[in-house]
Amino acid sequence: SVVTRFAPSPTGFLHIGGARTALFNWLFARHHGGRYLLRIEDTDRKRSTPEAVDAILDGLDWLGLGGDEAPVFQLSRIERHTEVAHKLLEIGQAYRCYCSTEELEQMREKARAEGRQPRYDGTWRDRDPSEAPAGVKPVIRIKAPQDGETTLVDAVQGSVTVPNAQLDDMIILRADGTPTYMHSVVVDDHDMGITHVIRGDDHLNNAFRQAVIYRAMGWDVPVFAHIPLIHGPDGAKLSKRHGALGVDAYRDMGYLPEAVNNYLLRLGWAHGDEEIVPRDKAIELFDLDGVGRSAARFDFAKLENLNGHYIREADNDRLAELVLARLRAEPDGLDLTAETESRIRGGMEGLKARARTIKELADNARFYAATLPLSFDEKANKLLDDDGRRVLSGLAEKLRGLNSFQEGDVEQAVRSFAEAQELKLGKAAQPLRAALTGSTTSPGIFEVLAILGKDESLRRIDAVCG
Ligand code: GLU
Repeated sequence: SVVTRFAPSPTGFLHIGGARTALFNWLFARHHGGRYLLRIEDTDRKRSTPEAVDAILDGLDWLGLGGDEAPVFQLSRIERHTEVAHKLLEIGQAYRCYCSTEELEQMREKARAEGRQPRYDGTWRDRDPSEAPAGVKPVIRIKAPQDGETTLVDAVQGSVTVPNAQLDDMIILRADGTPTYMHSVVVDDHDMGITHVIRGDDHLNNAFRQAVIYRAMGWDVPVFAHIPLIHGPDGAKLSKRHGALGVDAYRDMGYLPEAVNNYLLRLGWAHGDEEIVPRDKAIELFDLDGVGRSAARFDFAKLENLNGHYIREADNDRLAELVLARLRAEPDGLDLTAETESRIRGGMEGLKARARTIKELADNARFYAATLPLSFDEKANKLLDDDGRRVLSGLAEKLRGLNSFQEGDVEQAVRSFAEAQELKLGKAAQPLRAALTGSTTSPGIFEVLAILGKDESLRRIDAVCG
């Protein structure tokens, strides 16, 4: 059965391209009823940090893309990688190479002079090890095929062929005894039972080299699927401004994980024209034949639209928690009372209709928690001129007389006030909204009145009318 893996190098945050690779692996495994594993490729000891490991695992958890088992740490498997390198030596598929750095440099220079790709010339491939110079620590090199060509049938790229002359006898074990990355990946993928390697197409060339190791060991080569990278909206390499950010940055900007997942899915995979593909449906529909071959372009506007959709779908309590956490957060965190909190909870249904990010949702909810004096934006200020204030004084009298402040009751009161004054409803509702919220956009005004309640509504109106 299918086993996939996501194998990040912990040298930085989980960036958005990595998250998409993880998602494709996760979905492919789920679609086929298989398993999805994580491997932390931490053999580059200088660049790997425990903070990066945490950031990556946190980001994956947030997206709901944690592994089905505890992650495998590549560094902990070095002995096994070494063992396989020696096995290859033993079965005659690899050999010790005693070339000095100077000799290798000469080889490179010669190639350059002849206008060829530099390539190890196989000096020690057939040479008798007894000729080994004393005191030189050898590396172990794999015997790559020398003639013909190698074809891989990639599940996304199709059939790809390279002449074997391009595959030199690469090093699998360094002189200091450490395995090379290319070798470790193969041993790990084999031992973890990986059937499908889904990763960025910047690794396509590696696949040919890795296939050499699989074949030398007599192991099954997994199915490779190299997915195109993500580009900026202008088609150039993805830059920070265009979304090349850590997954945590998307959380901070106020995106919901389900929206990020849906967006990443659509970035490079399609099923007809459907834009909204929630997780269940994605599991049902996802397969590698839907992955495109050209680079996907990152588009913040699309992500925002999807996020707005998922905000409207989201449970109000969950949204309220996210909003409250944001409003409380430093540096200018609000001191929320039980009352203002419950207004925000109660107002969520109306608030979520228009927000495209949780940040926007929190900003729009702020007026429920505001203390007097309210601050007014420019348009709201204009509505609170002499005319506006006159209307508001009259309205205040009407509202003061109400015994019940339910939405239906205040609506009736405001409507009958407007009729009696021969005003269009908007002429009453607009200054009212300005006085209550400080802005000219807000959830429905009757809902706002009901949620603020009689006392607070009248306090805000009176504060304006002086
Ligand atoms: N560790 C590699 C990376 O982060 C991925 C290697 C692979 O998927 O084979 O780019």
